[in-house]
Amino acid sequence: MHEFSIAESIATQVCRYAPATGRVCSVEIRVGALRGLEPSSLEMCWQAVIHDSPLAGSELLVDLLPWTIACPACGQTWTSPVPFVACSCGEPRPNPTASDELDLVSITIEDEMEA
Ligand SMILES: [Zn+2]
Repeated sequence: MHEFSIAESIATQVCRYAPATGRVCSVEIRVGALRGLEPSSLEMCWQAVIHDSPLAGSELLVDLLPWTIACPACGQTWTSPVPFVACSCGEPRPNPTASDELDLVSITIEDEMEA
């Protein structure tokens, strides 16, 4: 599964950056729409991947970047969660573009001392 291998590579990256002390409670990533990832299935794969790791119990927050739609007829651009939409000027097939980025945005650490 596509999402599973992505979740694995994110977990590897997080393990590399996470400090030795403290528990990772959430990991935030930013994903371009061109990746075609389903955030909910990525979050499910995350839970499966981290189950037996030091990251167990952490939450994956997926920030999905929208498509940018550019209309060749009237020149306007806007963002959309789906690639195929008609323009308000009547153009049925404006051009969708999106990025394919996959970035680790932040890691939130919980200090275990305050138990
Ligand atoms: Zn238009």
